Amino acid sequence: MEVAEDLPALYRLGIVGAGQIARMTHQSAVKLGITPRLFAERIDDSAAQAAPEAVFIHPDALASFAADCEVVTVEHERIDIGLLQALEENGTLLRPGTKTIRVAFDKMHQRRVLRNRGYQVPAFAEVRGPDDVFDFASAHGFPVVLKTVRAAQPGELGVWVVEDRTEAMRVLAERSHLDLMAEEYQSIVKEIVVLVVRRPGGHARCYPIAEITNRDGEAREIRAPAAIGHRLATEARQLALDLANQFEAVGVLAVELFLTTEGLVVNELAARPHNAGHLTIESCPTSQFENHVRAVLDLPLGPTWPSAPAAVTINVIGTIDGYDPAQHLPEALAVEGAQIHLYGKLPKPGRKLGHVTAVADDMDQARELARRAEAALHGRRPL
Ligand code: ADP
Repeated sequence: MEVAEDLPALYRLGIVGAGQIARMTHQSAVKLGITPRLFAERIDDSAAQAAPEAVFIHPDALASFAADCEVVTVEHERIDIGLLQALEENGTLLRPGTKTIRVAFDKMHQRRVLRNRGYQVPAFAEVRGPDDVFDFASAHGFPVVLKTVRAAQPGELGVWVVEDRTEAMRVLAERSHLDLMAEEYQSIVKEIVVLVVRRPGGHARCYPIAEITNRDGEAREIRAPAAIGHRLATEARQLALDLANQFEAVGVLAVELFLTTEGLVVNELAARPHNAGHLTIESCPTSQFENHVRAVLDLPLGPTWPSAPAAVTINVIGTIDGYDPAQHLPEALAVEGAQIHLYGKLPKPGRKLGHVTAVADDMDQARELARRAEAALHGRRPL
């Protein structure tokens, strides 16, 4: 594959990974006159399709890719942290840096660091074999949540709620190739996500808090602002800003929180633009993707306030029959006011193929529009 040689000397941004997050980040960089280079795995990766001129594919070429870039940012958690560390040691300006990335990539490490710093996290333990799960269950009771220490592959499950020893044994046997950890089951009232965007010098802004609804362990519907009180929203924002400062995040840091009957519990940190922030494209003056680009290049951040009273995103997930929602694009586009985003990915069951967003004067209207558009893409009526 030939590599683009003549990118402007100014703002040579490299993105490692070429999925939909990279695709949307790339689009917002292009708006600013910046053409990022992409380190893709495959030529049909979502972002690689949209930017073939800027793609760099060679499994062993990460170092030379980085050498061509002024700043490198990473769009997913599946890359070897050792490789990133080596880049940083060789002088690559990695943003966010490995200090942040390490916390985001390794859930065991993340839990330990957060607990040691006094944040509320579920009780957890390393799992080397069934006895670790049984000991954990003796201390905390069933159900136990088993999860992969590293991010699951797209479309694959990374979390299992097991009700008893037999189920635990089954998951461990089926997933013996993965590093797993055990976690105390949380009675979740709501799941919320705070997106912070932060520049290297520490200037940071929060987006309106989003609320996510999961089905089968996958986020399906996201709404913003979350239906939570002012006091809780302030606490959640403060918590997210503290975390961004403590881990010296640069770019978007997504802080996933569980609202439980005991208060806010940190679920997970992601050091990149996040699915819960896709609606910022339509519902805020500056999207999470543009602000990520601005932050990693140390440019002034744009406003993050809500420009619409209510916004809803619904993920478009591949169905069991392998049907391509793009075939129903005309029907979906006929749902006026809904914004359709398709990622150009090969349809597979369970795969995130796109999302739809609707903004409106109230949440019911926004949800109704988004549901109609999502249903249209699947060739059915809204559920
Ligand atoms: P992923 O990296 O796959 O998103 P998460 O750790 O965010 O994994 O978990 C996915 C979903 O599983 C969460 O959004 C939540 O609904 C559920 N979940 C995860 N951990 C727990 C827990 N300790 N207690 C209850 N539900 C959980």
